[in-house]
Amino acid sequence: MKNYKFWFATGSQDLYGDECLEHVAEHSKKIVEGLNQSGILPYEVVWKPTLITNELIRKTFNEANADEECAGVITWMHTFSPAKSWILGLQEYRKPLLHLHTQFNVEIPYDTIDMDFMNENQSAHGDREYGHIVTRMGIERKVIVGHWADEKVIGRIASWMRTAVGIMESSHIRVVRVADNMRNVAVTEGDKVEAQIKFGWEIDAYPVNEIAEYVKDVSQADVDTLVEEYYSKYDILLEGRDEKEFREHVAVQAGIEIGFERFLKEKNYQAIVTHFGDLGALKQLPGLAIQRLMEKGYGFGGEGDWKTAAMVRLMKIMTEGMKDAKGTSFMEDYTYNLVPGKEGILQAHMLEVCPTIADGPVGIKVQPLSMGDREDPARLVFTSKEGPAIATSLIDLGNRFRLIVNSVDCKKVEKPMPKLPVATAFWTPQPDLATGAESWILAGGAHHTAFTYDLTAEQMGDWGAAMGIEVVYIDKDTTIRGLKNELRWNSVAFR
Ligand code: MN
Repeated sequence: MKNYKFWFATGSQDLYGDECLEHVAEHSKKIVEGLNQSGILPYEVVWKPTLITNELIRKTFNEANADEECAGVITWMHTFSPAKSWILGLQEYRKPLLHLHTQFNVEIPYDTIDMDFMNENQSAHGDREYGHIVTRMGIERKVIVGHWADEKVIGRIASWMRTAVGIMESSHIRVVRVADNMRNVAVTEGDKVEAQIKFGWEIDAYPVNEIAEYVKDVSQADVDTLVEEYYSKYDILLEGRDEKEFREHVAVQAGIEIGFERFLKEKNYQAIVTHFGDLGALKQLPGLAIQRLMEKGYGFGGEGDWKTAAMVRLMKIMTEGMKDAKGTSFMEDYTYNLVPGKEGILQAHMLEVCPTIADGPVGIKVQPLSMGDREDPARLVFTSKEGPAIATSLIDLGNRFRLIVNSVDCKKVEKPMPKLPVATAFWTPQPDLATGAESWILAGGAHHTAFTYDLTAEQMGDWGAAMGIEVVYIDKDTTIRGLKNELRWNSVAFR
């Protein structure tokens, strides 16, 4: 977790005298103190001197641009601040912007209010002038309304901070492709140059045997130590296999985990894709190894799916250090339960589901893969947590990207599935399976998703807006008629 900070910049003017400006500074300091002491914000807020002139506004925004620790500026107009003063600064500002539309006092002081008080405390007035210029300039920003001490308001600021860090960190995501996309598959393809322009992602290919060399170079001692860790941490589900042979298969994944991580660290990559059909000298499809890397925060996409790998990494960054986090994973829509009243989608992948989403014990199984031509890979198996979550799919429509965000409700399946040798989740998409799946298909969503319990559709939508791409929400308010119109209108808006 980087030591990011957010600057708090209060706007005013000198029309009401020095005493008023003293109050403005005092109030904004108290707000910053209150925000920092709330215990709700994931990052610190830093107070900045009151902004009243073009020069100071411009200088402050440029300092924010240059400060590597600054992940965004929170602006608030305590009094009236003529907004032409903000044009040059805003024009040059390049980081996330929050407009906190608040007020120092919570209640109108009925008995004592006079004109001086009203001139000093007029954010309802000043924030409209400021909001106008930001809208006129077409700058993407977040507006949060409410009293600064209200926990709901602080919670929304906290949520925006994670989005802001996602915006800042997107351009530090580097994806390594150890194989190309699966032959003939359309939805995992995309324009990597455009992805770098839009999202800042660097997506590079390496011959699979170059990473396999790193696996080969892992010492037996290192492998043995990691296998010991696996055996102490996970349930060993032999299911009739020979204990010694089982351990040897697990050891192959330990070597892959260590070798891959060394490769990723040395070459500064934070996300990886593999392909079961292109494994070079690797003895098994990376399963357990990839699951452990995802748990450590790496992004992953199967069958060369670099878009989903980068999205998983992005979500891992945005949820970093979150208290009581429930998990984030690469996921795939597999098979339905269509029994009325129990509809849902069984989620899994051949192997690679992140154990951060696990509920209850995690076990290791060794089972044949029905695809590819390697030995039976070891994998972690578990079922996933219940509760609300989001599934996202980033697709390339040929001339632009679209991010689809589906709110889903995760549930337990009715019965255990003893013969299924992979980790699973099960969810019902909102507003219901039929409408949700119809919407997803109309929007062109993939079978692969970047999935998380810990971010909201609003956070991902705000990230997409900051990237300048189309975001389509599928949730409790979605109707097919509305969605089709939205897609039609968006095709013009995002041309
Ligand atoms: Mn897949």
